Amino acid sequence: MSISKNLSNLNNSLEDSVKLVAVSKTKSNQQIMEAYNNGQRVFGENKVQELSAKHEVLPKDIEWHMIGHLQRNKVKYIAGFVKLIHSVDNIKLLKEINRQALKYNLTINCLIQVKIASEETKFGMSKEEVKNMLDSQVFKELKNVSIVGLMGMASFTNNQEILKKEFSFLNTFFKELSKSYSTMKILSMGMSDDYKLAIENGSNMIRLGSSIFGSRN
Ligand SMILES: *Cc1c(COP(=O)(O)O)cnc(C)c1O
Repeated sequence: MSISKNLSNLNNSLEDSVKLVAVSKTKSNQQIMEAYNNGQRVFGENKVQELSAKHEVLPKDIEWHMIGHLQRNKVKYIAGFVKLIHSVDNIKLLKEINRQALKYNLTINCLIQVKIASEETKFGMSKEEVKNMLDSQVFKELKNVSIVGLMGMASFTNNQEILKKEFSFLNTFFKELSKSYSTMKILSMGMSDDYKLAIENGSNMIRLGSSIFGSRN
C-alpha cells in the first residue's frame, strides 16, 4: 500500500491522545514528503548525520525527533533544531545536551530511555538508575533540559505475554514518576509490530516506520 493510504488508515484508527512519530530512517526525502503532504509533521530518525541532512533540506515546520542511541560528541549537530530526544540513557549525555542547549538559549525536551527488554543489546537505564539520576544534585542544576517522559523498546518477540509485561512495567513506572515530576507527560513505546499492545498499556507516543513507509531493506 502507499504511504498516504497507510497514514490515513493509521490516523483513522488512532485516538487523538496518541501521537504518531513517523520513523523515516533510511527513507528518501521524496518518501518523507509524501507523508508530509498527507499532513504528517513529526518524524523520527536514529542517526545524527541522517537527521541533520534531512532537517537541512526538508520543510522547516517538521518536528524532528532523535529516537536512536546518541553519542555525546554528536549532540552539537542536532541541538539547534531537535524537538525531542527519546534516548537519554545517562547523566553525562544529559549534561552535554544541557550544555549545547544553553549555547542556543533553548530548553531541549528529552525522554529517559528505560531498559524494558531482556535482550543484552537494548540500551536504557534501570528504574533505580533513573531515580538516582533524577534525585541527584547534578540533575537539578541542569536548567536547559526538560525531562518530559520515558521511552522504552520491548523485546524482539511475538510473545504477547512478554510484550505486555514489559509495556505495563514501564507504564507503572511512568505513572509513579508523573506524581513527583509534573513535566512527565509522554510515554513513548510501541513500534509497527507492537503498537496496539503498547497503547493498551498506556503509551501515548508511538514510533512507526515500516507500517507507514514499508519494510526497510
Ligand atoms: C526503527 C525504529 C522504530 C520503528 O520501527 P518499525 O518496526 O519500522 O516501526 C521505532 N523506534 C526506534 C527506536 C527505532 O530505531
